[in-house]
Amino acid sequence: MKKPGKPFKSKKKTPVVREQTQCRFCREKRSYIDYKDIDTLQKLLTNRGKIFSRKRSGNCAHCQRMAQTAIKQARFMSLLPFTA
Ligand SMILES: [Zn+2]
Repeated sequence: MKKPGKPFKSKKKTPVVREQTQCRFCREKRSYIDYKDIDTLQKLLTNRGKIFSRKRSGNCAHCQRMAQTAIKQARFMSLLPFTA
């Protein structure tokens, strides 16, 4: 006997995108992020100079905190812009 349920929906399931298990700094096993490493830090900034969120950058909480500190140090040393 057929159970009364929800009406059938022909909705295709989108393939699940696996999130990376480790962030880019953990993969490289970096113990700290250098504020002079502008090429790396630039990838974590928008073109207006804002820091990407953890979800966007894919960093873990620990590395995001280190990156945040490094970016702020780099800004103070005028290596990176506060705003663009
Ligand atoms: Zn990490």
